[in-house]
Amino acid sequence: MRFDWEIDGFLTAKGDDLLIDGVRSSDLADEFGTPLFVFSERRISENIQNLISASDDGGPKIKVCYASKANSNLAVLRAVNEAGGDIEVNSGGELFKALHAGFEPSQIIFNGTSKDEREIREAIEAGIYSIQADSVSEIELIEQVASAVGKPANVSLRLVPEIRTDTLHGLQTALLTSKFGMMPDEAVAAFGRWKDPVGPIRLKGIHIHLGSQNPSPEPYARALEALYREARTIFEKTGTKLEHFNIGGGFPVNYLRDRSHSSMLNGAQAALFSANFDRSSALRDGWKRVLEKAESEGFDDLLSDVELVTEPGRSIIADAGICLTTIRHTKTRPAGPDTTPDRWLLTDAGFNILLSMETYKWYYHIVAAARASEAHDTPYRLAGPLCDGGDVYFDIEGGKRLPDHRLLPEGIGQSDLLALLNCGAYSIAQMFPYNGRPLPAVVMIGSDGNISLARKRDEYKDLLRNEV
Ligand SMILES: *Cc1c(COP(=O)(O)O)cnc(C)c1O
Repeated sequence: MRFDWEIDGFLTAKGDDLLIDGVRSSDLADEFGTPLFVFSERRISENIQNLISASDDGGPKIKVCYASKANSNLAVLRAVNEAGGDIEVNSGGELFKALHAGFEPSQIIFNGTSKDEREIREAIEAGIYSIQADSVSEIELIEQVASAVGKPANVSLRLVPEIRTDTLHGLQTALLTSKFGMMPDEAVAAFGRWKDPVGPIRLKGIHIHLGSQNPSPEPYARALEALYREARTIFEKTGTKLEHFNIGGGFPVNYLRDRSHSSMLNGAQAALFSANFDRSSALRDGWKRVLEKAESEGFDDLLSDVELVTEPGRSIIADAGICLTTIRHTKTRPAGPDTTPDRWLLTDAGFNILLSMETYKWYYHIVAAARASEAHDTPYRLAGPLCDGGDVYFDIEGGKRLPDHRLLPEGIGQSDLLALLNCGAYSIAQMFPYNGRPLPAVVMIGSDGNISLARKRDEYKDLLRNEV
């Protein structure tokens, strides 16, 4: 029997067991304890390769800069590099980690709205592929720092083109009301102002990032077209030809491959979580459309040598990570008068390690890890271990942004192991030791089958670190 949540060669059910790259998840929990995050190098590599393949069949020259804010664990960064990926960083700290993980400066791009002088200096001294300037005032600061360092800065400009997507409001980033980017006119003016080919600022490209978990490919096609139109205006006004376009990240992950809980969610939320399109063919198709337009307008030479930079985070790492959690306690009680009593399962994985479950009501499908092949047909209410009423796996406000109940095998209870799937993105990158909970261990299963500790579990003494 095959389950909808399975991913061939990576996430499978065999007998009672949930296997991750062929390894029994219950063996991993026994060896490393829970809560535990498990990552697959093989799956990371497949996800990178899938996007690189957008350059096949007449697609653009693709540069895949993994957005390290989604998960900057060093083992993950090394796996990305090994798979042929480059990297996007958002801070001096992420730049430090990228260099530490072994990325070459030519593989690194640096985003962010509020870079300070030190971060800019570090990026210029390293000589990275591009600093993505978010405002004109930032270009001015980059110019000052580059002059002081005596080394030019490669710069690309982030635009805010007013392109709406159907994702959550807090995840929209290409609207004028968002805090990101500069207006298309400001970018054209900047190309006029900083056109000296031997000056401290070397403007190389333009950038649009639409947001995260964008459910439809159409905004990407519109963003490519907006980049082309902008490139044409820049060429006409200043004579400059761009070296790269950057289309950002935000490609969606289908969190509802198993549809068993989708009718328990409100329609908009179910649509968002089940978003699913082939990102490489979406980019290839969008690129072909823009090429045709450029040819018809006689500007195809503006595109012939352009490199298309992408910044995928979630779509590279989300489905490559699983969170294993143990049910610590159970209880039974009615949710109200005349209702059948709810069976509660209290796990050891709270929102301090899966913050999106609280902030964005993010859905992670759950499989009983040592009873994976049994029918998951009995409803339970789930909650994490924190002394905080918001630490529950349902929508406490009743908006059906998460299902009220999770379907698991009949009779599951204390000490049983659960696997939360698609947990690799925006999880350990956002964890914090709320309630004095030591941060969890992380394991990487290598492409060669070797299991290695990628992060050791914190001890109590780590709770004192930096306290004076
Ligand atoms: C967060 C972010 C990304 C990655 O978004 P995903 O949804 O994880 O793919 C890419 N680019 C920029 C500028 C970002 O802020």
